Amino acid sequence: MKPISLRARLALWMVVVEALLLAVFTAVTVLILQNLQNQQIEDTLHLSASELNAVIDVRDGQYAAAVSETAVVRSRGVMAWILSLDGEVALTIGSADNADLPDSLPPSGQSGDGKLPDGEPARYFVTPLSEGSRQLGTLVLAIPVGDSQLFTQQMGLGLLIAVPIVLLLSILGGIFLAGRALQPVAAITHTAQKINAENLSHRLDLTLPEDEIGQLAQTFNAMLERIDRAFERERQLTSDVSHELRTPLGMLKTQLSLARSRPREAAALLQMMADMEGDVDRMTRLVEQMLTLARVEQRGLTQLEPLDCAQLLQEVVDELRLSAQEHDVTLQLTLPPQIGFFLLADSVCLRQVFVNLIENGIKYSPPGGVVGVTAVRHWQQISISVTNEGAGIPSENIPHLFERFYRVDDARARATGGFGLGLAIAKAIVEAHGGSIVVESEPDKGSTFTVQLPAAD
Ligand code: ADP
Repeated sequence: MKPISLRARLALWMVVVEALLLAVFTAVTVLILQNLQNQQIEDTLHLSASELNAVIDVRDGQYAAAVSETAVVRSRGVMAWILSLDGEVALTIGSADNADLPDSLPPSGQSGDGKLPDGEPARYFVTPLSEGSRQLGTLVLAIPVGDSQLFTQQMGLGLLIAVPIVLLLSILGGIFLAGRALQPVAAITHTAQKINAENLSHRLDLTLPEDEIGQLAQTFNAMLERIDRAFERERQLTSDVSHELRTPLGMLKTQLSLARSRPREAAALLQMMADMEGDVDRMTRLVEQMLTLARVEQRGLTQLEPLDCAQLLQEVVDELRLSAQEHDVTLQLTLPPQIGFFLLADSVCLRQVFVNLIENGIKYSPPGGVVGVTAVRHWQQISISVTNEGAGIPSENIPHLFERFYRVDDARARATGGFGLGLAIAKAIVEAHGGSIVVESEPDKGSTFTVQLPAAD
């Protein structure tokens, strides 16, 4: 079965709710109206009874009332029969002159429904005619209620005709409004259908109001933006990796062609093989760095263990001291005499961060320079800084420094064997530890990379 559209469901719900409301409204209106009319009739009967009681004069078994004194009662359309103590009609007022009393009347002191001789429905009220505590007879009053019943009936009929018309109009209005309200949803669906991996540039029209649908469109656009950027990054990555692999592969191919072009001495062949090994090493390093980055970015860190950061720094500095000496650079580790450099970390990954930073420091230091490594603790944060002297990094390059394959001076970095991945790897690892990494650099003075990591007690 085909599901009912949201538009139809919305319109249907509106109509059902409206129909219920109108039914309740109609019933309540008719009831209130009837009640008010009944109340008014009762009040008129009671008022007229007490007025007549005051103006009817009983003398020697004769009942009389001056026409002027009963005028008000008559003007209300009230009919009255005055019965003597033996139950005979002794006097009539208003149109009761020509009307007989019905056979059954309500008990004295009460009112009830009955019919006039011409068949018109009427409300009767029976009450004693008295003077002080002495009963002089009985008062029977009646008001014809045909007109007021007709009014209520017509009112009900009018509502019965009006309600379906209102309902019909509201169905049409509901369908129209639901359609208008859901139009942007159709636009979202249409745009989403047009999007595929090759075409992520489509965006929704954002001239929509700031309502739920407008917010949905904004969220949808923001999501498209993120997917677009992620796809762009992946495309860029593929192009960067291919680019980085092309050079060593080309060189490898050249060396192989050269080696096979003519017979060569064993020593020359060994030299060529050593060159080729260098190219293979370079490609292996690239693949390993890419794998490290992918592992940290995709899966995060798997095995966190308590680690003494001071000890780790000492080990890394000792390990790199020889390489520093080869570059005529001095490594200087400064640790305050303070315990508490413990953190929860993946030691292999974190070691990689410090190796990358200190190796960069050595690479970009002038001969005779000093690379300083310091660690301090502020409350729950451990800060490790690696500072080197040198040309520094131009400020326009700093925002891109931690991007994959970004190199400030391409030729120089390439010559030193760098792919522009070291800082991207460092950032991914530090962030996976819940920390951050920043750089400060001053032209012709040098640079400081600072890693902040949460301490563990
Ligand atoms: P690479 O492997 O090429 O060194 P990195 O990601 O480690 O890649 O560094 C990216 C770029 O940042 C480097 O090419 C270099 O231009 C610059 N850079 C990194 N560290 C320093 C530093 N200590 N001093 C000056 N420039 C640096």
